[in-house]
This record gives sequence, structure tokens and C-alpha cells, in this order.
Amino acid sequence: MATKLFIPGPTEVLPEILAALSGPMMGHRSKKASELQRRISDNLRQVLYTENEILLSTSSGSGLMEGAVRSCTAKRAAVFSVGAFGKKWFQMAQANGIPSDMFASEHGQPTTPEMVEQALSTGKYDVVTVTHNETSSGIQNPVEEIAEVIKKYPDVVWCVDAVSSAAGSKIETDKLGIDVLITSTQKALALPPGMAICTISPKAYERTAQVPNRGMYLDLRTLYDFIQKKDYQYSSTPCLSIMYAMDLQLQRILQEGLENRFARHEEMAAFIRAWAAEYFAVFANPNHLSKTLTVISNTRNISVADLNKELIERGMQIGNGYGDLKDKTFRIAHMGELTMEDMKEVTSNIEDILKLK
Ligand SMILES: *Cc1c(COP(=O)(O)O)cnc(C)c1O
Repeated sequence: MATKLFIPGPTEVLPEILAALSGPMMGHRSKKASELQRRISDNLRQVLYTENEILLSTSSGSGLMEGAVRSCTAKRAAVFSVGAFGKKWFQMAQANGIPSDMFASEHGQPTTPEMVEQALSTGKYDVVTVTHNETSSGIQNPVEEIAEVIKKYPDVVWCVDAVSSAAGSKIETDKLGIDVLITSTQKALALPPGMAICTISPKAYERTAQVPNRGMYLDLRTLYDFIQKKDYQYSSTPCLSIMYAMDLQLQRILQEGLENRFARHEEMAAFIRAWAAEYFAVFANPNHLSKTLTVISNTRNISVADLNKELIERGMQIGNGYGDLKDKTFRIAHMGELTMEDMKEVTSNIEDILKLK
């Protein structure tokens, strides 16, 4: 029996999308490859609310996170962290020898516009990184308010990790002034893992020219220049199988309608939060909750591993807490192709296993 995934990635992939993975191979320098890639980029521009260029990388989301901070930082990066993935971005900067400072919020709390203002007013930074949706704590950061601060600093390149929220939460990339918005295939896009996606603004592109050691495979400038010169073909062989699946899935997403898709995520989020509040507690600051997953405090001190073992026997799986929140919290994802029916199914099974009723 297949296990239905309520973990925050990889998420459920529809059977017809899985079938699209098995399309026949073609030359990645063919006209057909150009057409495929162009269609994917056009549709991603709609999903991500941008007119900027789209870059794909055959890596997971982390690849373009590393590539973005490395290719865009000429001076110093201010890395805002609200949990495990923000911390990881800082580690990436450090591992690449990029001058950077981390500004961390307490677990369960957001990055505030005041924190960003304070850092940027020093004039030390030319890159800001923000996590849109922190998958370890269940926080969605107030990017609209943060955008108002960053707009006052026109030389700053703003990079956003939207790996676990893009295509599940509305993020108006251009309106917010986000220069590089990063996501990957296996979360709210509901595709298999294996490719990273980012948007790149003209400002971010121009910045890369001032950075001498950008590496190559994950360098945003190399990727950008190649697809301009070679009619949307990539500098190295991309994962064509995932691109077939992505092409179909993006058409499905646009058919569902973006507003409908976001509303479905909000409805599932509201249901899971209310359920969590009834039997446990929601972990994060209630004013800044994620729309794609809920992190639940383990107030009953249950064994999350035992619960999951029983759930898996019933054909479903939830997420334990991430990193140092393991066992102290557990996570129910409501992203991608999951529905209200699925939410009712997983919560009623948890109630049954834990004898909550
Ligand atoms: C999953 C995740 C990542 C890492 O993405 P990969 O595709 O696994 O490399 C980064 N940031 C956030 C917020 C995530 O949820």
C-alpha cells in the first residue's frame, strides 16, 4: 500500500504526473527542448507573479539558495533566520567564504521589519535573505511589511526562500520587489524532488557582474546567460523527466486557478490549526502562521514515532519535528495536492490511535 504523505516534502504527486515522468528522452539541445523549457518558464512566471526571467537548476532547492547568496553578494549578506532553513542558508554563505551575518529570531517567532531596518541602516549589507515559510517552525514571515523596509535601500538584492510555500501561498514577487525567489519541485508544486527554480530580477543579474568568484554550476549569471544565448536550453543536461512532469503539473495548477489553489491551502490550514488547538497547541506565533504546514506542540507528550508507525500501517505519514524540535513538536503538511478530505482522514485517524475522543 502506498503511504499518503502529510510530511512537508516530498508531497503527494498525482498518478498522471508520475506517468509524465516516463516520457521518451530527447536531445537537450533540440528545438523541442527549447519549447518545453519556454512553456515551463512562462507558466512559472504566472504562478510566481513575476515578469522576470526564470532559472532552473538540476539540484534541490538548496542548490539555488547556495547559488543565490554566492552569486549576488559583492559586499556582505544579512541572513535572517527563523529556524533550521535560515540557519542553513547562513552556513552556506559561510562555507562559500561569503562575508555574512545571521540575524536569528526565537523559535516560533518571525523576522520583523524592525530587525531588517536595523541591519540595513548600518549600510554594511548589499544582500538580504529571508525565509518566506519556515518548515521547521511553521512560521510565514510578514514579507509585505519587510518589503516596505527593503524598498528604501535600492542597492540591496533581496533573496527569498519560498521552497515550502510557492504555489501554495500567494507571493507577489514583483510587487514585493523580491529579486530572487527560490523554490523546489517537491513541496507545494507537488512534483518529485530533483529541480530547483528561481526568479532573477535585472538588479540581481547586474549585481552578479560585480562578484568575482561565483562558482559555475549554481551561478545565476551562467544559467541566465546560457538560456538567453541558447534559446532556453541549459548549460548542462537538465532533468528532462521532471521537466515533462513540471510542464503538465503547471498546466494543471493554472487550470485549478491560482486563487482557488491558495484558498484550498488556507481552508486546510484553518482546519488543521483548529484541530491542533483542540487537542494539542499550535507551536508558532498565531499572527504569522504558515499556510502550507502546521507545526504542533507535543503537549500530550506522545511518542511521535509510535504514532507515525500506526499511521503508516493505515497508509499515511505525518512529519516529526525538525532538528531540535523533534519529538517536542510534530508537523502536518497541508500542501500541494492534498484536500480537505485528506485533512479529515489524517486527523480522525490520529484521534482514533491516541484515543482522543
Ligand atoms: C525543504 C526546504 C528547503 C530545502 O529544499 P531542498 O529542495 O530539500 O534542497 C529549504 N528551505 C525550506 C523552507 C524548505 O522547506
